Formats: sequence, C-alpha cells, structure tokens
Amino acid sequence: MIPSAFEYHRPANLAEATQLLASSEDAKILSGGHSLLPMMKLRLATPSVVIDIGRLDELRGIQEAGGALIIGANVTHYEAETSAVLQQQCPILSETAAAIGDVQVRNAGTVGGSVAHADPSADWPAAMLAVNAEITLSKAGGTRTVSATDFFVDLLMTAMEEDEILTSIRVNANPPRTGGAYLKVPQPASGFALAGVAAQVTLGGDNTIQQVAVGITGVDNKAFRASATEAALQGQAATEAAISQAAAQATDGADALEDIHASAEYRLHLARVYTKRALLQAVERAQNA
Ligand SMILES: Cc1cc2nc3c(=O)[nH]c(=O)nc-3n(C[C@H](O)[C@H](O)[C@H](O)COP(=O)(O)OP(=O)(O)OC[C@H]3O[C@@H](n4cnc5c(N)ncnc54)[C@H](O)[C@@H]3O)c2cc1C
Repeated sequence: MIPSAFEYHRPANLAEATQLLASSEDAKILSGGHSLLPMMKLRLATPSVVIDIGRLDELRGIQEAGGALIIGANVTHYEAETSAVLQQQCPILSETAAAIGDVQVRNAGTVGGSVAHADPSADWPAAMLAVNAEITLSKAGGTRTVSATDFFVDLLMTAMEEDEILTSIRVNANPPRTGGAYLKVPQPASGFALAGVAAQVTLGGDNTIQQVAVGITGVDNKAFRASATEAALQGQAATEAAISQAAAQATDGADALEDIHASAEYRLHLARVYTKRALLQAVERAQNA
C-alpha cells in the first residue's frame, strides 16, 4: 500500500502545469486524488512525476456565459451538488453529483478528475453524455474542445492526449420544457454504479419529444449513449408505452461487464429498467418545468 517513488510538483498556475506536463516523462495530473492515490498505492499507477493542480483557483467555479454553464475542472462533486446555478439551470448535474460515493468522496473528488479518469462505473460520464457536454482540454500552446460523445474512448481511456489537462466542461442551460433525471443502482460498498442512467428530455407544446439524450454508465467498458432508445423516441408523443418500448432497446450493442458485483445479464437488465424510470421522471419534470 505504499506508492513507488515519485517527484511531486505543485505549479502556481495552469500555464506552469501544462509546461511541466509537456516536459515530464510519465507524469500524472493530481486533482482530488480519490482515484489516482488508491491506484498508486496499489501500484496500478506508477507515475514518476505527479503534478498537483488541485489548488489552482483558475480551474474552480461554475460560470454562466451566454446561455451556457462553464464548470471548472476542480469543482468538487459537493460543489456541483449544492451549486444554485446548476440546480436551477441544469439540475440533472446536481442530481448526479449527489449520487456519488459518500460525503468524503464528494468533498474531495472533482468533476474534471472523474471525467478524465473515465471509470466505467463512474456517474459523471453518463450525465455528460446526456447533456451533450463539451470538454475543454489545454496543453502548452493550445486549447481544444471535444464533445462528451467523442471523449470517452474505452475503459479508463479518453480522447485526451498525455500532454493535455482537462480544464473545464461546457453545458447548455436547459431550454424551456426540459427535464432530466439521473438514477442508479449503486454497488453498496463504494457507491459506484452497477448501472446508472442519465436521461434528458425536451418537450414541445404538444407533449412530443423534441430532444432526448440518454447516457448509461456501469454496464460497458465506457459510458455510452442509448442511441436506439433515443432514435425511437425522437418526435414521438411522450407516453409511458412509447418510453417503455424504447427503453427495451437501451442496451442494444452493449458488451456488458461482469464481475463479482453483478453479472453481465443483470447489468443489462438494470440498465433497461432504469432507462425507462429515468425517462419517465425526466418527462414528468419537463412537463412541470
Ligand atoms: C470510496 C470511494 C467511493 C467512490 N464512489 C464513487 C461513486 O459512487 N461514483 C463515482 O463516479 N465515483 C466514485 N468515486 C471516485 C471519485 O468520484 C473520484 O473523486 C473521481 O473518480 C476522480 O476524481 P479526482 O478529482 O479524485 O481525480 P484524481 O484521483 O486526482 O485523478 C484521477 C485520474 O484523472 C487524472 N486527472 C485528474 N484531473 C485531471 C485533469 N484536470 N486533467 C487531466 N487529467 C486529470 C489523473 O491523472 C488520474 O489519472 C469513489 C472513490 C472512492 C475512493
């Protein structure tokens, strides 16, 4: 349980952090440390350089900018859970944050750290897919933006290059008559999702589904969009029958994980059941928005 030896750096700003990352061999960024440090203690990660960005103020805070919300990478799960701006303008994100681990994990872990880590059972990736988040990555001399759909590549693998730092996440504030819900079945000891579903729906005046996005975590190597479910619901009346039928396709194409906590079959079943529940809740919230 003792990590291998490493150099520790605490840069004073983002520019210094990206410079250090560019010039270091085998370096890792440290944010909340709630995934990296356990992995280092188990020697599943053995970086020779650790760059601690956890106290960089420029990566903190949730800003409103032209109908969008910019969530700094260092925003903790607790800050997202309790943010008045998120609760009002994109409440599915506060709901997701509240579902993570326990209060200690939520106080230390960060949104950016969780998204960058891309654990297949983490909660944020499902929500980021459901709100069509855009992820901003910075490196020495450049910044780029990647959609959440393109960001999650495989088990603990993202579109982020080794010299990039996730600096913020941009989401649109909800349009009128939009509702979202994040529901999960947690693994009882850690809280990680055996299956977690984030659904966001925008209704037209006639109660038809104008926009729908469903992100699923805990089931496959990476969080994924329930594309068949979304396609089946687009433009349809938001009825329980339509949602029930569409949710049955939520895991089409999924290659489910299996471990001591849950069989593949059980995870797939949970994902379909929770897709239906999350969609029904999202529609109800959209009707009352
Ligand atoms: C007991 C326990 C229970 C948990 N339960 C849950 C749960 O129910 N749901 C859930 O989703 N998560 C859970 N977690 C994980 C927790 O949410 C972590 O905080 C989160 O996954 C990682 O965030 P962090 O800030 O701690 O990142 P760190 O541990 O600091 O880093 C994680 C990884 O991301 C990289 N990284 C971090 N920040 C950046 C950045 N800005 N740019 C580029 N790379 C970066 C690091 O190099 C590292 O590889 C749990 C953790 C513990 C210990």
